Amino acid sequence: MSNLDREAVPSPCGGRGFVVAEPVRELLSPRSVKLGEATEVRRLLPNLGRRMVGAWCFVDHYGPDDIAEEPGMQVPPHPHMGLQTVSWLHEGEVLHRDSTGSLQTIRPRELGLMTSGRAISHSEESPKAHARFLHGAQLWVALPDAHRHTEPHFEHHADLPVVTAPGLSATLLLGALDGAASPGTTYTPIVGADLALAQGADVRLPLEPDFEYAVLSMSGEAHVDGVPVLPGSMLYLGCGRTELPLRAASDAGLMLLGGEPFEEELVMWWNFIGRSQQDIEQARTDWMTGTRFGEVKGYDGGPLPAPELPPVPLKARGRVR
Ligand code: MN
Repeated sequence: MSNLDREAVPSPCGGRGFVVAEPVRELLSPRSVKLGEATEVRRLLPNLGRRMVGAWCFVDHYGPDDIAEEPGMQVPPHPHMGLQTVSWLHEGEVLHRDSTGSLQTIRPRELGLMTSGRAISHSEESPKAHARFLHGAQLWVALPDAHRHTEPHFEHHADLPVVTAPGLSATLLLGALDGAASPGTTYTPIVGADLALAQGADVRLPLEPDFEYAVLSMSGEAHVDGVPVLPGSMLYLGCGRTELPLRAASDAGLMLLGGEPFEEELVMWWNFIGRSQQDIEQARTDWMTGTRFGEVKGYDGGPLPAPELPPVPLKARGRVR
């Protein structure tokens, strides 16, 4: 669309207060990605044709992995810019260190929320003495332009609000659901909730019609709006819903991700989110020269080098590929 257009054209799913989109049911298949030598994850976002759900722009699901005889997760110090990371576990534990001096063990159903702002670096590892199984999700939330240069900080919330209904226990990671609100800091209208369903559950979750939503399955046999969603898959639901029917044929663990459609175009590369090729090039240079991103203390090993930038220029893209 050129700027010569004189009529405002409604975007198909466009922001708070103006939604024309119908609900959809779009099953997103995972892409298998190797992280280091030992860990394999299932990547749900970005996905072919779907890059974001609200400000959620990155979703990896991993495990359950038997790490009884293994070191488990070993992610060396690496940088982030322009985003928040959300660490969420169903089993096991992750030891988080970052360049603001944080040293925190994150346990199941505790929120590890790291706001990178303009620059942070962190490492994530299974503690030496760890549980047998590791099962979780790693997610990113894009920061809007007005907040992407904010000061880096880390939050750990161990006592999150829980909403219950017969057969459902919903833990609020971010945002609000059915009157309960997470203490986690947010920068856009967004929601993230862990949904523990008991076998035989048949519930309707209240939704915001001007949010778009997706549901990630982490375990069990669940039907989301009538669609069976296998563990490691995600169902994109679109906007325009006031409620969401959920049924469980066995105990099941889901994550509800939603938010106001994110209308800014982003450049995402490696662990950085910027607005231009230049943003990304500068961040890469700053990481490789040891400036801006600080230092992670206490990790047993060196930092992760950045890959080479691709030969073709990076393009700013919207939420749909
Ligand atoms: Mn990271």
